[in-house]
Amino acid sequence: MPQGQVPPSRIAYRIDQVTQQILDLGVTPGGVLLVHCAFSAVGPIEDGPLGLIAALQAALGPDGTLVMPSMSDVDDQPFDPRTTPCLGMGIVAHTFWQLPDVWRSDNPHAFAARGPEAARITAPHPVDVPHGPDSPVGRVYELDGQVLLLGVGHHANTTIHLAEYLAGVRYRRRKQLVLLVDGQPAPFHYEEIDHCCENFQFVDEWLDAQGRQRRGEVGHAEARLARSRDIVAVVVERLRNNETLFLHPVGVCEQCDEAHAYRLQVIRSGAGRIGE
Ligand SMILES: [Zn+2]
Repeated sequence: MPQGQVPPSRIAYRIDQVTQQILDLGVTPGGVLLVHCAFSAVGPIEDGPLGLIAALQAALGPDGTLVMPSMSDVDDQPFDPRTTPCLGMGIVAHTFWQLPDVWRSDNPHAFAARGPEAARITAPHPVDVPHGPDSPVGRVYELDGQVLLLGVGHHANTTIHLAEYLAGVRYRRRKQLVLLVDGQPAPFHYEEIDHCCENFQFVDEWLDAQGRQRRGEVGHAEARLARSRDIVAVVVERLRNNETLFLHPVGVCEQCDEAHAYRLQVIRSGAGRIGE
């Protein structure tokens, strides 16, 4: 390639081009859209992360609600929705919660939202069940929202944790957070449905096999789009047949080992699955 020429793959997209890509993928104008994003894969785009947010909003229109993860990066400091960074979820998520008219839930497992359903999605939610039915992700499901993965695979898809909860999986990992209690920082212990999440990648095949996932490009990134309800449906069905299918075999990974050990303890104590 001649010197100074930008490789075609690195040409910056205009915002209106990205909006068109998002619409072509099948995002519903006026709907609820939960986005997980790795901007390094999407860009460059005109105006950077702000340009991508503008393109998403333009595709959704004024009646649509845009939702992004907005959780705390650390578990040893109390969460403050006005100041706590969310860099772990990427620069787009971290940019989004700081914009005008964006609501952010007051919870270390926060999500942020803008649009008509934003207040409902970011209403108070329990700390000890981060992605259950009474959580931002659960509300996106209830509202029949869509989930958009930009430059990330299903390992980043928090809606799968909702499906694990609804399937009644018995594995957990022990977690600790610092909460403000009467204005004072205090440790809070709880158990969360969690593991390394690597095997969430299986969900690609399950959704594709049933034609319940759209794939395309947004900016330069590989994009996946599915209804929250479709993700939950395919995952719950499989987990009911094989509760541990997302966990690595024992001895491969520390996080999955912890989840296995917790589950065995629950089984030995004679407790059934949630809802039984
Ligand atoms: Zn693992």
